[in-house]
Amino acid sequence: MEKKKIEDLYNKKIKLLNQFNKFYYDLSKPKVSDQEYDKLMNEIVLLEKKYKFLKSTNSPSQKVGFKPSKNFKKLPHKVPMLSLSNAFSEEDLKNFEKKIINYLDKKDEFEIFYSAESKIDGISASIIYKNGKFITGLSRGDGKEGEDITENLKTIKDIPDEINSKNFPKEIDIRGEVFIKNSEFKKLSNKFANPRNAASGSLRQKDPNETKKIPLNFIAYTYGYEKGLEVETQHEFLEMLKYWGFKTNHMNKTIKGVKNLMRNYNDIEKQRNELDFDIDGIVYKINDFKLQKRLGNVANAPRWAVAHKFSANSGVSKILNIDIQIGRTGALTPVAKIQPINIGGVLVSNATLHNEEEIIRKDIRIGDTVIVERAGDVIPHVVSIDIKKRKPNSKKFIFPKKCPCGFETIKEYNKVTKKFDAVRRCPDRGFECDRMAKERLKHFVSKEAFNIDGFGKKIVENFWNLNLIRLPQDIFKLDYSKIEALDGWGAQSVANLKYSINLRKTISLEKFIYALGIRHIGLENAKLIAKNIKSSKNFLLLSKKSNFDDLLNIDGIGETQMKSIKDFFLNNTNIKVMNELEKILEIKNAKNQKADGILTNKTFMLTGKLEGMSRAEAKSLIEENSGSIVSNVSKKLNFLIIGDKPTKRKIDSAKEMNIKILTQAEWLKMLNKTA
Ligand code: AMP
Repeated sequence: MEKKKIEDLYNKKIKLLNQFNKFYYDLSKPKVSDQEYDKLMNEIVLLEKKYKFLKSTNSPSQKVGFKPSKNFKKLPHKVPMLSLSNAFSEEDLKNFEKKIINYLDKKDEFEIFYSAESKIDGISASIIYKNGKFITGLSRGDGKEGEDITENLKTIKDIPDEINSKNFPKEIDIRGEVFIKNSEFKKLSNKFANPRNAASGSLRQKDPNETKKIPLNFIAYTYGYEKGLEVETQHEFLEMLKYWGFKTNHMNKTIKGVKNLMRNYNDIEKQRNELDFDIDGIVYKINDFKLQKRLGNVANAPRWAVAHKFSANSGVSKILNIDIQIGRTGALTPVAKIQPINIGGVLVSNATLHNEEEIIRKDIRIGDTVIVERAGDVIPHVVSIDIKKRKPNSKKFIFPKKCPCGFETIKEYNKVTKKFDAVRRCPDRGFECDRMAKERLKHFVSKEAFNIDGFGKKIVENFWNLNLIRLPQDIFKLDYSKIEALDGWGAQSVANLKYSINLRKTISLEKFIYALGIRHIGLENAKLIAKNIKSSKNFLLLSKKSNFDDLLNIDGIGETQMKSIKDFFLNNTNIKVMNELEKILEIKNAKNQKADGILTNKTFMLTGKLEGMSRAEAKSLIEENSGSIVSNVSKKLNFLIIGDKPTKRKIDSAKEMNIKILTQAEWLKMLNKTA
């Protein structure tokens, strides 16, 4: 598509999305389903990723979360709403206590009582009462000024509108946490990333009737300013809150000594998954108000309180069930369905159990209390179980020996390690196993394979369930009129899909081979095979051969890969699929590599960014001219090509080894080219 057309398409999509936004946020009357909204948003982001020249300040990718609320008036807090300092370990707590003792100039033996309160991960709010009446409600805002969200807060049942108790202060600003229960959050499907966002979104609706639709809760725990409050400790205050009709946290406790704080922390962390709301730590407040006053505040947090946070990478939960998932290559992966738990801000409800052996080794059972870890991009996994918490009637988990498709599963024998594989697999090599077939289709359309824009995993699932696709060729023979009639699809989105699919009817041989999803044939191996076998015709001819000697000569293709390709070609469905695809697609032959090009017998390595050329392009240019690429600086390397911001270490080692260093221009000159 030419630039102008792409820009027009892009602007049209943004305009449409802004219209949808207006209906959703301002008129509170969504115009389209969430699914359709997400799809449009995704299309815009994909266009931006693909065509870097597209940049609009209107773009939804430039905005985060909710619109800044012009809707609410700002009001100052009479007493600032502060943050809390954090502690992560017993050591931190000891230091916290020590500092307090020093500040108060007490002896080491001085006993401090704390109010230990679970830290609910919600949105804090301040409710101002005058003469027993709820007058104004504010959000925390920047701590000094909050947004006037009185009307929205008034929709929350847990916040009393009027309090008639005699000892209720004449004026008081009661503070607490607004949150949504996990069970309610689940019902909101994919609208929000986590319960906290849902609570925040609901609270900041322009129309309080919208707030009412998402059931919010309120737990009270402190006060800001007051006139006529007659209590001396936080514990008494929490008791009074209950008496006045507020909800307080049932896990609140008064505790002394760091050892006991730790014990309570560990207990609560274990109970955390059984709660119907998210907590992300425990707040310890000095119980005695007189001491609190003496201690005062540091810049933005009280000196008399600390938040003891739970780990951001792990949490304790309970296994509700064990599901067996079948991957593209037939591996049976057990996945624990766990009681949802917030780990580092993400609500985790699935954790992998890796494979059958892992389950046997750790004796993992349904009902077990487990530690789940989620760090970085790694899939959440079960680290260990708490045997003490196991019920006497718990039963060993029996790993299924059959794939849900009906095939008996197998454990392969590895000739090299002389061991059976830890992974149990469905033996299907074709598309007979429904589960594998679906996964293979997902692989087929994925980024590195056919890279069909807008045809993601969800669409594969959806089309599969509707029986629109079973084999890869079905993707190119879709009945678009049927799709247009589906919920969430319209003429425009169908046109886009058709466009993306047709765009991929021309494909390189290596991508084609990779997309077939042959086990052990990843991108690199597919490239090697393509380079040697040259055309899809030759590739298909392999099916007629009794031996694959041609493949054996390829440097990098070993016995494992060979066996896998053989198995693949032994399956008739695979052959039919390839023949069909051959007819539909234009599979480009692999570029001939000159055997005696200018760079014959020369090895290269690249470091830094080249100008006007990607790494991939530079690599193929070298290879087309019979040179080869090596991945580290060694005696085998002849030339190190340096671009912008090269790695210094590589240059230094190259110099040490007397390896010739080339600039991009010098290298291009070798090829008789200019930049
Ligand atoms: P932070 O968000 O890390 O600055 O921590 C302070 C926040 O913890 C407060 O603004 C409240 O939203 C929240 N919080 C939850 N439970 C409590 C509690 N029991 N006492 C004080 N703050 C709490």
